[in-house]
Amino acid sequence: MRIGVIAIQGDVSEHVDALRRAIDQRGESAEIVTIKHKGIVPECDALVLPGGESTTLARLLVKEGIDNEIKDMSASGRPIMGTCAGLILLAKEGDEQVKKTHQHLLGLMDTKVNRNAFGRQCDSFETELELPFLDTPYNAVFIRAPGIIDAGNNVHVLAKTDDMIVAAEQDNILALAFHPELTLDTRVHQYFLDKLF
Ligand code: GLN
Repeated sequence: MRIGVIAIQGDVSEHVDALRRAIDQRGESAEIVTIKHKGIVPECDALVLPGGESTTLARLLVKEGIDNEIKDMSASGRPIMGTCAGLILLAKEGDEQVKKTHQHLLGLMDTKVNRNAFGRQCDSFETELELPFLDTPYNAVFIRAPGIIDAGNNVHVLAKTDDMIVAAEQDNILALAFHPELTLDTRVHQYFLDKLF
């Protein structure tokens, strides 16, 4: 198994560490590769799109030609997890800010996102989130977090905070507005890995 982490910008090493911990806990083995250039995504069995700055990420994904590889990967049904800025990139439609800046989105989920749904950097927060696949709440860290403001019928809403969708799933794709890689609790990464192993 090979799991790719888009490593253009953002909290890449945290995702690599969290995946490593989660895989070890399962007693499985898998290679984790960081991706900066074209040609690696097609060889991955699963992919993580980390948080960061979605405008920068989008621009560089297109420049490197990785965007089309991700679309092909999604079409083949392989699991993809997008966290924070990753949730923005996965969306079909953005808010006024996204439209004004002509920000490129991958459009893999039938969702509309608000890029900075919870305010600015200083409005970052943590909350105990109920997730349907966990027995007890998950301490979710939100950093200048986006939110899904609209979702099609094919999108399975997993969690909401302040009326904003903060975790959702559509077929092979999992989108989270928070950062599961910033806590030691690997349960969300485990849920993602369940789709692979
Ligand atoms: N809101 C940020 C953006 O628009 C994403 C923040 C994050 O990934 N921590 O890019």
